[in-house]
Amino acid sequence: MLSTMQDVPLLISRMLHHGSTVHASSRVTTWIGEGAPRRRTFAEIGARTAQLAHALRDDLGVRDDDRIATLMWNHAEHVEAYFAAPSMGAVLHTLNLRLPPKQLVWIVNHAADRVVLVDGSLLPLLVPLLPHLTSVEHVVVSGPGDRSGLAGIGPRVHDYEELIAEKPTAYDWPELDERRAAAMCYTSGTTGDPKGVVFSHRSVYLHSMQVNMAHSMALTDADTSLIVVPQFHVNAWGLPHAAFMSGFNMLMPDRFLQPGPLAEMITTERPTHAAAVPTIWQGLLAEVTARPRDLSTLTQVTIGGSACPPSLMRAFDTLGMRVCHAWGMTETSPLGTIARPPAHAIGTDEEFGYRITQGRFPASVEARLRGPDGDLLPWDGTAAGELEVRGPWIAAAYYGGADAEPLRPDDKFSADGWLKTGDVGTISPDGYLTLTDRAKDVIKSGGEWISSVELENVLMSHPEVAEAAVVAVPDEKWGERPLATVVLAEGATVGFEGLRAFLAETVAPWQLPERWTLVQAVPKTSVGKFDKKVIRKQYADGTLDVTRI
Ligand code: ADP
Repeated sequence: MLSTMQDVPLLISRMLHHGSTVHASSRVTTWIGEGAPRRRTFAEIGARTAQLAHALRDDLGVRDDDRIATLMWNHAEHVEAYFAAPSMGAVLHTLNLRLPPKQLVWIVNHAADRVVLVDGSLLPLLVPLLPHLTSVEHVVVSGPGDRSGLAGIGPRVHDYEELIAEKPTAYDWPELDERRAAAMCYTSGTTGDPKGVVFSHRSVYLHSMQVNMAHSMALTDADTSLIVVPQFHVNAWGLPHAAFMSGFNMLMPDRFLQPGPLAEMITTERPTHAAAVPTIWQGLLAEVTARPRDLSTLTQVTIGGSACPPSLMRAFDTLGMRVCHAWGMTETSPLGTIARPPAHAIGTDEEFGYRITQGRFPASVEARLRGPDGDLLPWDGTAAGELEVRGPWIAAAYYGGADAEPLRPDDKFSADGWLKTGDVGTISPDGYLTLTDRAKDVIKSGGEWISSVELENVLMSHPEVAEAAVVAVPDEKWGERPLATVVLAEGATVGFEGLRAFLAETVAPWQLPERWTLVQAVPKTSVGKFDKKVIRKQYADGTLDVTRI
């Protein structure tokens, strides 16, 4: 028997319509460094989005499924692109501006992007790539920047504001199939080649509803979210889309991501929520410790992308900024779990233990753990295995390229269609995930596994340690052993012996690193995570000054 309900497709154009009418007065504020920020209401964003879509279709000839790439920081125009491309039936492709040029060229050509929307300030990055970009026909430049390098190049060049000026402020958005491609994003390749994940209208819509749930980020039109996580990092974790559903205001930092400007934005624009990877917050913490500010409005901070060190969570608690830890990946849109403690633990000694897990699975994300011998493991909080997930906003394959079949590599998808995350951990009986490592980062010492994340967390809780990354290095006797890479805080006097003794207070003796090295900064990936590939290579090349104790 069929239902009697309406079958209304879950489309991004519907989110846009809702946000720009019901939440017409909510705002996107873009930080511009010196001077008053640029402010635009959701109603204005809606009108400009329609203008952009008209320009893309009528002036640039964009048709269904054409890929519209963005090489942009977080700002209002990038939000307009977020809604214009998918709503008109094209596909938004956000480019990670921190990738090495060769990878960017590979990605643009693989996705066959036809149009690139670029910030004027990022032209020095784009211009040298253009001769290698085989599919790009149009470059649309937004904002100030030296455009002289664009003279005489292949693609046609347009100015964003001139292009959209005088276009109609309404667009008759097509009634698309909700399963069609809306946006695409390549994984940042922390552990291999980039792989393209193609989100559908339906997956973005359902994911955005999840972001807005009370047990998730729970933002309303009374909130302002400082969206530090880049729009090219898995759709800024779904925040711009979620904002158009629930009306929360967006504060966009543009390219001003250093701790000083971020602290200034918080003091002057008074956001209530913020989202970014842990390294951003470590930087902000150092800044506000050295130069205290009034950050009192910022009471909710979503941290994900890599494990949040407990010491960071505690330090933020002391400042009144409550951290909510979340886990996800490009393939999961990205929200996979979020660590809101269960009601019975709130206010008890158990609460922190729940908050520091990667979080609880929401409805729609199913999870299972697979042990080293291929068996499924119980959710008992102790059996550790590789996490596999499935659900309506989880990838079933990677983009294979134009006219090619989607890719389903065996190491990424199970025979019955679940995503193999490559993350290793446990799940408690009440559905909280605790990750101990990435499968590729686990240290396999004499048949036992050592969690690099656990060693890092303990080291980073030492008051004289600013950052610490631990990687596996080859060892003749044990197969692999941990190498501790440490950045000391200003004025620190602690030595390796002292750090090892500190670790020994919480970590089993056989897990303690013998190899130690001091560095100025831990190498980071394009999205600000510790780049362990680079540390392993530096060790192999002998470029690190390693002390054995
Ligand atoms: P990349 O694979 O290039 O790093 P993603 O942003 O898709 O790009 O990274 C997803 C991975 O990041 C996850 O598989 C996991 O290993 C790690 N990750 C994300 N959030 C967390 C978290 N809260 N704790 C630990 N690891 C995390």
